[in-house]
Amino acid sequence: MPASVPHPHPATGEPFGSPVPPGVGWPGDPADGRTPAASTPGDVERLAGAADLDGVQAASSVCRACPRLVAWREEVAVTKRRAYAGEPYWGRPVPSFGDPAARLLVVGLAPGAHGANRTGRLFTGDRSGDWIVAALHRAGLATQPTSVDAADGLALVGARMVAPVRCVPPDNKPSTAERHTCAPWLRRELALLPDVRAVLALGAIGWAATLDAARDAGWAVPRPAPRFGHGATAELTRADGRTVTLVGSYHVSQQNTSTGRLTESMLDAAIAVAVGAAGAR
Ligand code: SF4
Repeated sequence: MPASVPHPHPATGEPFGSPVPPGVGWPGDPADGRTPAASTPGDVERLAGAADLDGVQAASSVCRACPRLVAWREEVAVTKRRAYAGEPYWGRPVPSFGDPAARLLVVGLAPGAHGANRTGRLFTGDRSGDWIVAALHRAGLATQPTSVDAADGLALVGARMVAPVRCVPPDNKPSTAERHTCAPWLRRELALLPDVRAVLALGAIGWAATLDAARDAGWAVPRPAPRFGHGATAELTRADGRTVTLVGSYHVSQQNTSTGRLTESMLDAAIAVAVGAAGAR
């Protein structure tokens, strides 16, 4: 889909079409015009398997291997929400965000339609981002409590956030095949983050994706598979014998936070368990 009429970036004022082509100056864009774009599940396996951490960031941000999700992320980027009609939308897969030496990995679900799919950075520009970033800041893992756009100066220290499905899915529901197609990006990233000692899984899909990626990476995973729950924990063992603690939390979706299913104190408690296991600060 060709990029739409350019609009100014809300922070930098630079004009961008939507979706944003790689390498045109979007804050934090890891790709450029030469970055190879996967167009099949086999391409994802091949490109992820050969990439270093920067390579995973770049190649995953231009991936086109799931036709339904490519169409949806670009449609959302063009039609926009009325409140953001004058802004450019990233409209591409959203790579991980945070510290390459992270001891704590936060595994979510997928980019928000008008959050990360607009801003190009995970948990940025919507209510879910407000919740998790404020909580990470309370825990000493984020340099500021807000996450507005990709040029706002936010950095994570000792923590990193990743989506097991990197493109926004219709109704927030990726298919099983789409989850499977996207899995090699997370699997490779886990292998390239040797300092990770704890994973905070936001929701059952993040929990299951972490277990799948750990198994695929040759880690020892308890049997039967540990069940997701808020505050649930499981011990995973990397191939080198080091332990990684998986901690479950209800997702920071507006559906959970606005109904009180997930409160700030519940989220803080789950993060405290993960931080304790990770020694992340
Ligand atoms: S969901 Fe993952 S595998 Fe599918 S197109 Fe997006 S980045 Fe590629």
